[in-house]
Amino acid sequence: MKTPIGRLAPSPTGVLHLGNARSFLLAWLDIRARNGHLLMRIEDLDGPRIRAGAEQAALEDLRWMGLDWDGDILRQSERLPVYRSALDQLLASKRAYSCICSRKDVELAASAPHAGEEGTLYPGTCVGRYENFAAAVAASPAARQPNVRFQCAAGDTTFEDRFHGVTTYNVAEQLGDFVIWKRAQEAAYQLAVVVDDAASGVTEVLRGNDLLSSAARQLQLYAALDLAAPTFAHVPLILGADGRRLAKRHGDTSLRTLREQGLEAQQLIGWLAWQSGLQDSPAACTAQQLAAAFDLAQVPEAPVIWRGSFSA
Ligand code: GLU
Repeated sequence: MKTPIGRLAPSPTGVLHLGNARSFLLAWLDIRARNGHLLMRIEDLDGPRIRAGAEQAALEDLRWMGLDWDGDILRQSERLPVYRSALDQLLASKRAYSCICSRKDVELAASAPHAGEEGTLYPGTCVGRYENFAAAVAASPAARQPNVRFQCAAGDTTFEDRFHGVTTYNVAEQLGDFVIWKRAQEAAYQLAVVVDDAASGVTEVLRGNDLLSSAARQLQLYAALDLAAPTFAHVPLILGADGRRLAKRHGDTSLRTLREQGLEAQQLIGWLAWQSGLQDSPAACTAQQLAAAFDLAQVPEAPVIWRGSFSA
């Protein structure tokens, strides 16, 4: 069997919280249980949202949890030329186009029937309009740089998610043409993640299920760039007792704060393991102890609920 290659891909935009801890623990276990390679990639592309010191803090939290990785750390901010050449390939094959629409234009142009799963669906205003960047810049108010969008293929994108099972999206109709290059001259998440996962030979992507629809978008990019796609597993997020995604109203669930309040790593791992169907009580344990017997099939489909305490 081929050695599985996975990755942890934190975004240094803030502190790691309980939800991140659970996804990273499962991603780590899924690879370590199969003696695979686990890579570390810092997703530091989103300029304005990157916080100084957040990378070090995230890495420190992960080490504290007892999670390790193999090889050098890859930082997306250092890989602009690689993304640029993938972009050029998509522009040359006419699978990408310059888009001068502002966020407001998109909202105005898209009437209610076009609302996609994640808000406004891009109505395709700029498809086929501009021969090249220069033409788009010339047409743009105040000669602003354009964004570049990927032109989705029509029809269904279906994949077998190791957690969700068979998953289908009609990317064009449900999600719409998405930005792959930002006018600020940086690659957008969807393009960077595909280029990096392919370049690193990643075979397994395990992450939170808020990115399930992104897998469908990414599969279209893999196909358009003629790259081999990994398998995906999207695990449920941790929710508050009210069934909503963990947020400030549920209290501070950053690992930083929980640690300051006295949380021990083994206590966190024990609770996560219990909540993830890996042991029948929240008894303290290490990630290492869980690795030998880990099987993703043990993890329940139901989301983990945070009720404000690590005890049973
Ligand atoms: N950096 C992303 C996040 O922290 C993860 C992206 C991915 O796993 O594809 O949400």
